[in-house]
Amino acid sequence: MRLELINTGTELLLGSTINTHLSWLGENLFPLGLRIERQLAIPDGDIIRLALLETVGRADIVIVTGGLGPTSDDITREITATLLGLPLKENAEIYEHIRAFLATRKREMNPHTRRQVMVPVGATVLHNGFGTAPGLYFPPMPVAEADGKLSPHIILLPGPPRELMPMFTDQVVPILRTLTGHSSKNVSMKSFKISGLGETQVSTTVEEPILSLGDVELGYCARPGEVIVRVIGTPEQLAQSEAIIAAAFPENYFTAEDVPLEHVVVDLLTRMGQTVSAAESCTGGCVAHRLTNISGASNVLNRSFITYANDAKTELLGVPEALLSTHGAVSREVAAAMATGCLAVSKADHALALTGIAGPGGGSEKKPVGTVYIALASKKNPEPVVEHHLFRMEREGFKNMATQMALDLLRRRLSRMV
Ligand code: ATP
Ligand code: MG
Repeated sequence: MRLELINTGTELLLGSTINTHLSWLGENLFPLGLRIERQLAIPDGDIIRLALLETVGRADIVIVTGGLGPTSDDITREITATLLGLPLKENAEIYEHIRAFLATRKREMNPHTRRQVMVPVGATVLHNGFGTAPGLYFPPMPVAEADGKLSPHIILLPGPPRELMPMFTDQVVPILRTLTGHSSKNVSMKSFKISGLGETQVSTTVEEPILSLGDVELGYCARPGEVIVRVIGTPEQLAQSEAIIAAAFPENYFTAEDVPLEHVVVDLLTRMGQTVSAAESCTGGCVAHRLTNISGASNVLNRSFITYANDAKTELLGVPEALLSTHGAVSREVAAAMATGCLAVSKADHALALTGIAGPGGGSEKKPVGTVYIALASKKNPEPVVEHHLFRMEREGFKNMATQMALDLLRRRLSRMV
């Protein structure tokens, strides 16, 4: 079935509200075997009528969001009724619901809220448990303006996300299930995450073998420090795709779950009963921040030092002053000494250390802005390994990338140990 989405609201086009309905609905329609084939964002006003009219003969289902409320710019319900030639009739049940809803907030029905009580004859009411404006479902009906052609199934949903989401899940999903019947194919979607490689490198390696599996859909999404390969296909095709990716990138492929890298790191440490500490300079605590975003971090994160100044590196981690003055704070040698010191002081199983130049100032020819050294020392492997990277980007992007690479360095070591 061809499904289209119309998001109404001037605020969406002024840029003051981000259209989260598009992504949320897209994600929640997929398991029903439905995809948004076309999406339109339009301001409030008569353009909604034209947008709906355009879908006649093209779409099977149209979802419209926003404009069901009490204000003068909320006219989606009236416009749809006019287009379908339906009179509006007061609905006693909605009247009572709105009256009771307002009463709990010590407010009374006024002519504006009263508009929401009017229901186009022939439409099914979708109860709003979290607001006043009901949603509406219109089965196909002849549209005079389209020479009597049948309209798509039209579903009107309220704009506020906290009202739209439960209404969709509880009341729209059953309607859509009836409409799609058992026609939806047995396909699912998986997102395979690969760290530390570029999009092109990933796609040139896995594209051919995955597409040769038959009728599969393949897409890529590049994120800071990782590439996501999205595959849509049967469960067997997804398992085969995973095997292809894992074989192509045994070091870099890290999950098929919808979880971030730090989640995988916390899981690995938990399974192994091990702990990590960090000594952070240029990332200012981002490694610890990301690890502590994950539930269970308390079992695996021992401590994190933010040793920004040279004297902090010396006092807390025992980095020799001579090393700092000879090689500079941003150097392979100091990163290694920070990791060694952190391992010794914290007694964790692993110690990560980062030192770098976030910029925009502070760079030199030998050590340009974006330079970062990341070191890892482990109890069972005390000689620090040090990686050198160059991330030429604004400060926050630099910190993100450095953090990502540090977490990935640890993840790679852990996955070799399990
Ligand atoms: P209300 O009764 O609140 O007026 P409504 O159905 O008339 O509801 P709108 O007036 O269009 O809905 O939008 C209400 C609010 O919902 C907006 O101010 C905005 O915060 C949010 N909203 C609307 N559309 C979207 C969207 N596409 N994505 C995210 N939020 C949205
Ligand atoms: Mg409104």
